[in-house]
Amino acid sequence: MSVPDWVPLREELRDEEPYGAPQLDVPVQLNTNENPYGPSAAAADDIAAAVRDVALGLNRYPDREATALREGLADYLGHGLTSTHVWAANGSNEVMQQVLQAFGGPGRTALSFAPTYSMYPEYARNTHTRWVAGRRRDDFGIDVDAALALIEAEQPDVVVLTSPNNPTGTALDPAHTRAVLETAPGVVVVDEAYAEFRRDGVLSALELLAEFPRLLVTRTMSKAFALAGGRLGYVAADPAIIDALRIVRLPYHLSAVSQATAVAALRHRDELLGQVDQLRRTRDETAAWLTEQGFEVAPSDANFVLFGRFDDRHAVWQGVLDRGVLIRETGPDGWLRVSIGTPAEMEAFKQALTEVASR
Ligand code: PMP
Repeated sequence: MSVPDWVPLREELRDEEPYGAPQLDVPVQLNTNENPYGPSAAAADDIAAAVRDVALGLNRYPDREATALREGLADYLGHGLTSTHVWAANGSNEVMQQVLQAFGGPGRTALSFAPTYSMYPEYARNTHTRWVAGRRRDDFGIDVDAALALIEAEQPDVVVLTSPNNPTGTALDPAHTRAVLETAPGVVVVDEAYAEFRRDGVLSALELLAEFPRLLVTRTMSKAFALAGGRLGYVAADPAIIDALRIVRLPYHLSAVSQATAVAALRHRDELLGQVDQLRRTRDETAAWLTEQGFEVAPSDANFVLFGRFDDRHAVWQGVLDRGVLIRETGPDGWLRVSIGTPAEMEAFKQALTEVASR
């Protein structure tokens, strides 16, 4: 894409591309880490009924504070949290943008550890926040001594840790999160978009909230919750941090339709989350199968697996796509990422990959 010269776009945006994975109409879509199991007809009916109720009042603005929804999310998270500890927005993308609007900005620095979610530098760019990326180790874990040294040197206003990390699937050792919290001078965001998929025994940063008031834990209903189309992300933090985020949010940012949809979805959480255990099993089976085939596989606590290495990963991505399976060309050079789908979708993926890149 090239923006014509007459469009008075900010100079530093002129060569930028809009972010996004290819949205292609192919039979097997394993590229954006969605839950492959949609809501049941009963859940969809309940969501539709809730939306119909609010539709009768759509001449009015929605609840600016999204109180009922925040209560529902706090109840879901547990850990003694209340609605005052929770904030919600249109996807955790919007939550993160609000975090950088509130805590980043001109003259301020945000820091993370690459390879990680590729939207973070874009939030930084959009909010004029300086972006610093440390490196992860070769096994995609965080070298805690190097991380602490970088934080000491850069004094970032915002540190973003991602656990499990996208695109590598790597969960963070809570001792490392704690060390970062003790060293970082500003806020520390732990992005737990994939938390529900983590393996047994892997702790959530929610455990640390009571101890560290500058900790923010972001979550989303887009992944395990099977509600990517609803656009609902949220964050748990100290009420004073939540109040700071409320300063930068747009008025009525979360529509009455979104709020009603998410509240109804929370009522059906047992069903919507009901396939998470099966997805975790399929994830482990997929990782084991890829290893058996001779690929390198990053251990994953998420609903996707990063595998490699390919001299020409684009050719492999294209070959798999030609067989009707869309995966993601992302992460470090030579690696590809596959989201975990239904068993039938994973069979199609294995078959396609075997044909394209058997070892
Ligand atoms: N964080 C991570 C690590 C992600 O992978 C994603 C989605 N790919 C998001 C946040 C954003 O998700 P959403 O805006 O749908 O909540």
